[in-house]
Amino acid sequence: MKAPLEGNNIVIIGAGIGGLSTGIILSLLNFNITIVEKNPLAGGLMRSYRRSGIDCSVGVHYVGALGEDEPLGIIFRLLGISVNDLFERMGQDGVIDRYIFDNFIFDLPTSIDAYEKNLQTAFPGDTAAIDVIMKNLRKIAERMLDPSFLLNQGDPFQNIDYFNPMGEYLEKLNASDGLQDVLAMPAQLIGVPLAECPVIFHHMVLAGYLFSCWRLKESGAKMADVFVERFRQLGGRLILNEGAQKIIIESGKVTGLQLKSGNSLTADAVVAAVHPKALLTLLDVESLKSSYRDRLANLQETDGVIVLQVSVDGREHPEMTHNIYRLEAREKGILNNGVFYQLRRGNAAGANLLSIITKSSCSEWSKWENTNSGRRGKDYEEKKLSIAHDLLRQADDVFGKLKDAKIIDVFTPLTVRDYVNCAEGSCYGLMRSSRQMLKIASLNNVPLSGLYLAGQNVVAPGVLGSLLGSFDAVRRIVGQERFIHEFKSMTLAGNKPSEG
Ligand SMILES: Cc1cc2nc3c(=O)[nH]c(=O)nc-3n(C[C@H](O)[C@H](O)[C@H](O)COP(=O)(O)OP(=O)(O)OC[C@H]3O[C@@H](n4cnc5c(N)ncnc54)[C@H](O)[C@@H]3O)c2cc1C
Repeated sequence: MKAPLEGNNIVIIGAGIGGLSTGIILSLLNFNITIVEKNPLAGGLMRSYRRSGIDCSVGVHYVGALGEDEPLGIIFRLLGISVNDLFERMGQDGVIDRYIFDNFIFDLPTSIDAYEKNLQTAFPGDTAAIDVIMKNLRKIAERMLDPSFLLNQGDPFQNIDYFNPMGEYLEKLNASDGLQDVLAMPAQLIGVPLAECPVIFHHMVLAGYLFSCWRLKESGAKMADVFVERFRQLGGRLILNEGAQKIIIESGKVTGLQLKSGNSLTADAVVAAVHPKALLTLLDVESLKSSYRDRLANLQETDGVIVLQVSVDGREHPEMTHNIYRLEAREKGILNNGVFYQLRRGNAAGANLLSIITKSSCSEWSKWENTNSGRRGKDYEEKKLSIAHDLLRQADDVFGKLKDAKIIDVFTPLTVRDYVNCAEGSCYGLMRSSRQMLKIASLNNVPLSGLYLAGQNVVAPGVLGSLLGSFDAVRRIVGQERFIHEFKSMTLAGNKPSEG
């Protein structure tokens, strides 16, 4: 790890949850922070948008581990942001997610014990495999609840087997196809095929949702506004509608940021809370080692999605406290054609919102890859709507004939790509498969003085992963010693960091 940063002025590129939370933590430690965001509004994927009077989610549908003594709950407390103002618990009917396969239904329940029970009931022939899986899941869950997990003290996961791919692990356990299908879901939630998903990521995602599961009370726009307000309250400066153009480097050290408007900012360090491939476009070729550049440029992305927002009759289709996944098991453990449904109360009179999400790769939209959002032409709109109508028909099989169903928006991987500047419109950034795990981890040691990464690509994707990434970025900036000094008491007692 580099030596702690000398100097106090830091510029962060990108005001997604990664950039804003890094800005909040550094402000708490008395750094002078400026965040530069290319869009007119802050929040990145966290921010929702409004159509037909209804708030439509982009990248926060549900979140795990927000309970008071759970990792995300502790992080929110450290940030000074109230969980209960923004989120509400899911699963009041005992179910978080209902997985509907062709020949069976499996419910993801609200606790680790209930999950074990559901697995044993659904797969009586897999008792021995389930025993092993649950033992490891409980060990990992226990470590996640230990303060050393957030402080990154020592190695919280010392068992080397946890870094093996799930495919190999389940093969050894002789797990049945059905069990593998069910276990494929947590891997899917971070965009990695089950066979290639490291056991540790799989179990961390699963444990997070089994600790406690939450969704937004109001909207992603409110969540983004609360993060911005907290950042500003701590003295942070946010510049909107201003893209980063080039990171300025003098004598091998970052000294500032040139902006698209032509203005520039001086800085002791720059934190890139954007997709790392977008970072490459901000650096002169000679400023980065070619081995680093090549490694990054060749990494595989997670898939994109097509998202359909549908307003439905609110009385006929009341809000559901759990999500539904309609899944097909085509090959062993690899889920194809999975569709996610979330039915939420709408904020328009009489209407609720059904969000439908399914996989869609950028290559499916290659005909329009050189076009911009809003200007892709009629044939693009027709293709979007044709897929949307198919998805709506399939939804009738799950919900019965939907009353007053009206498509209010459809977005594709190209929309996501242009909105936040992520390679191939990938939902979860770089794919954290076993094959790529070490390469991605090594990217965080950026071989350039004064340059750091934050956001979903640092540790893991999703709200929890992005916030863990912010802590990791701060640890690199202030050094492990100060990091532990500042945060140790807080992770235990919920205090604020010491001033200065
Ligand atoms: C459809 C979808 C559904 C999801 N659902 C969930 C979910 O239910 N639960 C969950 O936990 N996670 C979910 N995720 C993942 C989660 O949204 C992301 O992991 C997280 O929001 C990423 O935050 P980030 O700050 O790393 O990136 P981003 O939100 O992408 O932020 C990056 C910011 O940088 C800005 N930027 C880029 N380039 C520049 C530049 N040159 N200059 C200035 N600014 C720039 C962008 O405009 C953007 O605001 C979902 C993602 C998607 C796409």
